[in-house]
This record gives sequence, C-alpha cells and structure tokens, in this order.
Amino acid sequence: MQPVFRFAPSPNGELHLGHAFSALLDFELCRRAGGRFLVRIEDIDRSRCRPEYEAGIFRDLAWLGVSWEAPVRRQSEHFADYAAALGRLEAMGLVYPAFLSRGEVAALTRDPAWPRDPDGAPLYPGQDRGLDPAEAARRIDAGGAHALRLRTAEAAALAGSLSWREEGAGPDGETGTILADPNLWGDVILARKETPTSYHLSVVVDDALEGVTHVVRGRDLFHATAAHVLLQRLLGLPTPAYHHHGLITDDGGRKLAKSDRDTSLRSLREAGVTAEDVRQMVGVDAALAAMR
Ligand code: GLU
Repeated sequence: MQPVFRFAPSPNGELHLGHAFSALLDFELCRRAGGRFLVRIEDIDRSRCRPEYEAGIFRDLAWLGVSWEAPVRRQSEHFADYAAALGRLEAMGLVYPAFLSRGEVAALTRDPAWPRDPDGAPLYPGQDRGLDPAEAARRIDAGGAHALRLRTAEAAALAGSLSWREEGAGPDGETGTILADPNLWGDVILARKETPTSYHLSVVVDDALEGVTHVVRGRDLFHATAAHVLLQRLLGLPTPAYHHHGLITDDGGRKLAKSDRDTSLRSLREAGVTAEDVRQMVGVDAALAAMR
C-alpha cells in the first residue's frame, strides 16, 4: 500500500517559519517513503478562518516547493461526515451535553490540586454527566449553551489498551510504541453549539477517510494523540503512524505564533528572503540528515 502523508493547516493566520519546517519535513519524509502528499484545510472554526489565509497557504507552500494532490479537502464542506461519527459515539452512550459555563468551570476547579490536561487546562468537572436525559433535552430545547463531550473514562475502559507508533519524539523524548492514556484529557469536547464538531473528532475522521498512513506534526500535539487513538478505536478506524517534530522557537525560546508578523512566510518573501533561505533558516535538511 502506498503511504499517504498530509499537512493540515488552519487558515486563521499567515503561515510562519514553524509551518515551513513542518511542511518541508512532512513533504521530504513523504518523498523518502514514496508516498502521496495531501494538504487538508482545517477550517471548522468559521469565526477565525478567512479565504485570504487559505489562499496564502497554497501560495506559501508552492513557493517553498511543496506539491500536493488535488482536490484539497476542506473540513467546512464535510460537517455531515463528523456528524455521522458523532452519531455513532452517541449511539454507544458515550456522549453527554455539558452545560457548565467557562466561569462555572473556573469556580469549580479553583483548587490548585485540581487535575489539569497536558496543555495545562483544568479537566472538565463533569457535574452534568449524570443529568437526567429529559432534563438535558429540555435545557437544549430552551437554547441552553452546551458542548457535547465524550465520557472519556467509560470510553477508555471500553477501548482497552491503546497505543501508537511514534516515529519522531514526544516532549520527553518518548519514541517507539507509546501507550496512550486518554484520561489525561478528561471529557474532551466533540462538538460545540456554534461548531458541530471539534478538532479531535474531525482530524480523526479525515485522516481515516483520506487513507492517511503517516501524520507528521508539531510536538505540541504529541499528547493529543492519546485522544485521537481512543476515538479511532471507538469508531473502528485505523491508527496511522505519528511523527511529532520539534518546534521552531523565537529568540526568547517561545513557540512562534501566527500573530508574529515578522516570521510570516509572506513578510519574509516580501523582504527578499528566498525559499532556499527559509530551508536553511529552519534547518530542515539537518533534521532530515539526523534521521537517516
Ligand atoms: N490543524 C492543526 C494546526 O493547524 C494541525 C492538526 C494536525 O496536524 O493534526 O495546528
């Protein structure tokens, strides 16, 4: 089977040097493996995504020398696929409507000992896990703001032991077979009122629908993989191999943000920097040489 790689940016800002490293590494690893290369536009958050950023992604990637297959999958055109997956999880009794507001969550989790997820956010307290379904339906009908969350503990118990193959490394150098502990994330959001899916759900559905065999992405998503592997198991989807790579940081050691205009590929190009210069700046060839 021919390997399938993908680069999956969100069009909510200009691509920067960190994206250049990720895309170039991904593309070269794909070439080495003789694979097919896909770009996927992750634009479920309609309030933050803009067509001009999407156009910028294609322009920047082409400028870098990356090429990809057409047509490109745009997540905002496939909400029905995510709804179908959500429906399967609901039918398994693994989803509940969660009504606590941000303020209520903050108040309930103020104790410094309250467990936090790998990104540092307090785990959802889950007061509404046991809410009577008729009462939940009444609140939803009355327009009550809510998110749909996974009953992660039950789901993880049902799924049994979970793992993935890590071809890169996690933040603590984790590599090889990684045991996934989805309970680290508590009850993850699967859909919101304004966005009928979530990053975790749509990424898992799309990687499977597109036949992705290799996911190359930043190390900041290493721990999220535990939630992805759980959803794959519940939905009967294959787990690809993962390659999490180091992040390009600024002079102060901070992760680059889409708001730092000076590292955007567009401003670098406009300042006369070449694609070859970018390749050197991000050290992708050195990174690849170290992987041989
Ligand atoms: N869309 C995500 C981002 O822009 C990447 C998702 C992934 O590679 O799994 O950071």
